[in-house]
Amino acid sequence: MIDFDNTEIAFRDKKNYDLKKARWLFSLVGSDVLVKTGSVLLQGALRMRLPVSWALKPTVFSHFCGGETIDECDPTIRQLGSSNVQTILDYSAEGKESEEDFEYTRQQIQATIDKAVDNKHIPYAVFKPSGLARVALLEKVQAGHSLTDNEQQEMDRVKTRFDHIISYGAKRGVPVMVDSEETWIQEVVDGMVDDLMLRYNKEKPIVFNTLQMYRHDRLSYLKETIDRCRREGVYPAFKLVRGAYMEKDRERARKESRPSPIYPDKEATDKAFDEATAICLANADEVAVCIATHNEISCLKAVDAITSSSLPADHPHISFAQLLGMSDHISYNLASAGYNVCKYVPYGPVKTVVPYLIRRAEENTSVAGQTSRELFLIRKELRRRKGA
Ligand SMILES: Cc1cc2nc3c(=O)[nH]c(=O)nc-3n(C[C@H](O)[C@H](O)[C@H](O)COP(=O)(O)OP(=O)(O)OC[C@H]3O[C@@H](n4cnc5c(N)ncnc54)[C@H](O)[C@@H]3O)c2cc1C
Repeated sequence: MIDFDNTEIAFRDKKNYDLKKARWLFSLVGSDVLVKTGSVLLQGALRMRLPVSWALKPTVFSHFCGGETIDECDPTIRQLGSSNVQTILDYSAEGKESEEDFEYTRQQIQATIDKAVDNKHIPYAVFKPSGLARVALLEKVQAGHSLTDNEQQEMDRVKTRFDHIISYGAKRGVPVMVDSEETWIQEVVDGMVDDLMLRYNKEKPIVFNTLQMYRHDRLSYLKETIDRCRREGVYPAFKLVRGAYMEKDRERARKESRPSPIYPDKEATDKAFDEATAICLANADEVAVCIATHNEISCLKAVDAITSSSLPADHPHISFAQLLGMSDHISYNLASAGYNVCKYVPYGPVKTVVPYLIRRAEENTSVAGQTSRELFLIRKELRRRKGA
């Protein structure tokens, strides 16, 4: 039986000091006004090249990120690992545009693969496609516009970068997850990842595509990919998420007078997410799945399906994932019950991780006075310790 309200397990590696700091942080980000003002001021400070690290590093950054370098993440990896929670190192530099930056990102991802080989607490590597390619270029390719010779060469370099990373992961036995992005570049990414799956997933699942289940075309895409992989004799592998770019995707469709690619409501997204999970779990001997969510109900439904099909909790094709600093009650309770659980541990120079931090703060802003789930659980555990 999994009890996500068990805060003793959820926070067992956190000292009172850590919990009080987290309580302070979630109280601050709970204020919509504060988060909006803070984000604007922070972005302004970055544009003016004012120093921001001194304020961010000991607070928001240290809560949501592992460090500025791979080695700085070591204490976090050890701490999570001691509770059987695994790490996925996520190099989080965003908004890069130059070839030098993309090459640097590729090297970082390969360094996370090396780290995974040496560390039993790191089962996967991950990358974000826009860290390796110019978004405007991917957009142009997806729109079907013809490319100049230079652009064609640039696109060839993007494909080579993807291929280098996946072949490196395959050689070193480390599976790699490819994050999903906005709909207007995702088709190009899907094309590259589908191709890599056919080439590298012959012996075991090496490359995972990410499916955003808020998109109403993803269930059929999932089924088609499974069928194609079956025909080709390779392992299909997916990370399932609900999707992070709903507003942007809807707005863009509206501006272009196209139907929205997103389900009309949350219930439909929830249903699609759970159905995709059920399909993957029902085919777990051939389909690898990472159930990446902070949604308790989806996790419980997945646990039910695993139990009722008599699959082992630690089946090598099944894992759960949450983000560092969020939903420890899910990660630690699932890990304690023997499931494969990972935390995305973002790292990178403080300044480059700011967009990621702003997204986390916005996500944790509570609706009109309602206390966030995180804050509720932290307070509950502090009270329990006081009474114990
Ligand atoms: C380990 C991990 C990796 C991730 N990787 C990616 C990634 O590669 N790409 C990516 O895009 N996101 C990624 N995410 C973020 C993810 O897509 C979600 O934004 C986030 O996890 C919140 O969804 P949830 O399932 O945790 O929980 P919930 O709080 O139950 O769901 C919130 C989500 O539901 C959907 N939703 C909310 N309102 C509506 C509505 N009115 N209509 C339709 N849908 C709605 C949105 O997707 C929203 O984010 C990742 C998350 C995790 C934990």
